[in-house]
Amino acid sequence: MLNVPEMFGSSVFNDEAMKKYLPKGTYKELKKTIEDGKPLDINIANVVAHAMKEWAIENGATHYTHWFQPMTGITAEKHDSFISPTSGGKVIMEFSGKELIKGEPDASSFPSGGIRATFEARGYTAWDPTSYAFIKDGSLCIPTAFCSYTGEALDKKTPLLRSMECINTQALRIVRLFGDTETTHISTTVGPEQEYFLVDRKAYEKRKDLIYCGRTLFGARPPKGQELDDHYFGSIKPRVAEFMKDLDEELWKYGILSKTKHNEVAPAQHEMAPIFDTTNIATDHNQLTMEIMKKTAEKHGLVCLLHEKPFAGVNGSGKHNNWSMSTNTGKNLLDPGKNPRENTLFLVILASVIRAVDEHQDLLRISVASAGNDHRLGANEAPPAIISMYIGDELTQVLRSVLSGEKYVAGGNQVMRTTAEVLPNFTKDTSDRNRTSPFAFTGNKFEFRSVGSAENIACANFMINTIVADVLGDFADQLEKADDVKAAAEALVKKTVEQHKRIIFNGNNYSEEWIAEAERRGLLNLRSVPDALPLYTSEKNISLFTKHHVLTEKELRSRCDVLLEKYSKIINIEALTALDMAKKDIVPAVSSYIKELAETAAVVKTVDPELVPAAQTELLKKLTGLLNCFVKKIEILDKAVVGAKDISDIAQNAMYFKEHVLAAMQELRAVADEMETNMSSKAWPYPSYGSMLFSV
Ligand code: ADP
Ligand code: MG
Repeated sequence: MLNVPEMFGSSVFNDEAMKKYLPKGTYKELKKTIEDGKPLDINIANVVAHAMKEWAIENGATHYTHWFQPMTGITAEKHDSFISPTSGGKVIMEFSGKELIKGEPDASSFPSGGIRATFEARGYTAWDPTSYAFIKDGSLCIPTAFCSYTGEALDKKTPLLRSMECINTQALRIVRLFGDTETTHISTTVGPEQEYFLVDRKAYEKRKDLIYCGRTLFGARPPKGQELDDHYFGSIKPRVAEFMKDLDEELWKYGILSKTKHNEVAPAQHEMAPIFDTTNIATDHNQLTMEIMKKTAEKHGLVCLLHEKPFAGVNGSGKHNNWSMSTNTGKNLLDPGKNPRENTLFLVILASVIRAVDEHQDLLRISVASAGNDHRLGANEAPPAIISMYIGDELTQVLRSVLSGEKYVAGGNQVMRTTAEVLPNFTKDTSDRNRTSPFAFTGNKFEFRSVGSAENIACANFMINTIVADVLGDFADQLEKADDVKAAAEALVKKTVEQHKRIIFNGNNYSEEWIAEAERRGLLNLRSVPDALPLYTSEKNISLFTKHHVLTEKELRSRCDVLLEKYSKIINIEALTALDMAKKDIVPAVSSYIKELAETAAVVKTVDPELVPAAQTELLKKLTGLLNCFVKKIEILDKAVVGAKDISDIAQNAMYFKEHVLAAMQELRAVADEMETNMSSKAWPYPSYGSMLFSV
């Protein structure tokens, strides 16, 4: 029988392992470092390194690696063995405090957006003791931050850690004003729900587009899609169930609190939700989760697709980033309590998020901007590219009362009468679920739903942390001067809601009317990466990030460049893949099929010269016409790709890729899909959408 409690965290150097392997004094020092973020003394680091090594070797490890999250979006690792030569040709296993604390990977192969000059290739990885080390594939993995020789952040984790410090500072000021003297630390918490697709490995291997791009570039719609809504929460098929069981076990070993699993809306789409954790740990765990999902799928003859839009016309995948703030005494600052109208601290926090989201719509959009996510945002299934907030009926009533000064009658436990008498009456959820909002209040947390499924959540969270911290800081400045904090806070909440209420939208975000309404309200609608990213380096944003020491101007500019370049590179790879498939597979396949039709028509004539092979001739004409058109579209795409080489400005280049290359790819695809629909499945060179989506 599976002993989950025993297996949970067995691959992690967690608190239990630390207690067991570290001398008491060292354990205490390390805990202090973890809790207060103080630097670790090298002598202590030596003791910790030794203990970690002992634990790792006992658990089968032979190597160690600094595990970090460069701007590529995936995690990087470089493995060194513990061996150290001794006399007589023997080795001993060694690991020093210095090796634990600092690594020096060659930074030149990671994107840096011009920060790291080629002559200075060194980069440093620095141990993040707040995230536990773990063993993966025989290596002790040490979670680290990655920066350049001159100290600039080259990764996704450094700004996240900085933003957590900054929101801690500002939020502490606020709770102090409300008489909280016990709290010493406030952390942001995150529970990222991860969506993914599973497809059969054999089908995957026949598709260059999936192999090179992670998404299909061609593919006609299957006769059945998701219109019957019969997949969502449907019973899980045996092969998928086996995969999920295995996945849970693997995740638990790494101390990842995998909690819920279910089928998603689209066929072959599924979701895993963990129990929330402190943001940097949730981020590390989500990176690990994605890696483990891919590996586990392989064991089952499957491939896990994390791309935001693997199949056109079918729901894409996202990551619902559930975000809140909690004190080290265990209080969730976004918990409205029984009577939110009287809970001034909660209202202040709520108002700070409302203002932050309104003032920094651009940053939230930028935080989820990727080539993959562009296919999802605004495509009538994910939240739109317009950022707005949903706060639910109860809080809307509360805020109305704040604005009007009228008395608020707490809804309390409204009983919902279900029509069928046999069902027990249940307490109505205070906030009805709005599945279409990009930033929704869901009871005691905000759910940022625009994050792409393949993205590192660090980016979304360092942005949320920073923008909320900025407003909290300003609120604290104002309230610290007040004689009557409660009255001043009430007035502040009122003023804030008045000024920023345009960001609140409780209706259907997928409707056409909302797009027009949002424009009237003056909200941003940044449809794509090249539309959104140039705003990253605005004066407002430079001053925001430098003020809170989350990013320097140089870091910010380089990040913007890295993201824009990445966008162009991705579209370029997609275009080259589409051209390859079109020229090498699709054109030859359609030509052969046309030949087959012509031959069949000729054979019909030999049987009886009077017989008219109308079926074959019609189809032959249709396919020949389409093929001619297809070849023209190939030429257009070819030219578009070449044209990109002439544009050196990074932002203009990205815009060119969107407007010319991506557009040409879409036109090419439309013709291919039409041809696929008119051909025998045997003659088409790739597995169809139907066979990929419904075969597992
Ligand atoms: P749904 O899919 O209906 O939105 P789930 O229960 O699947 O809801 O996911 C909710 C997610 O929110 C879980 O990952 C959960 O751990 C997380 N969550 C709950 N409370 C908090 C909190 N205070 N801070 C951050 N995340 C939270
Ligand atoms: Mg959710």
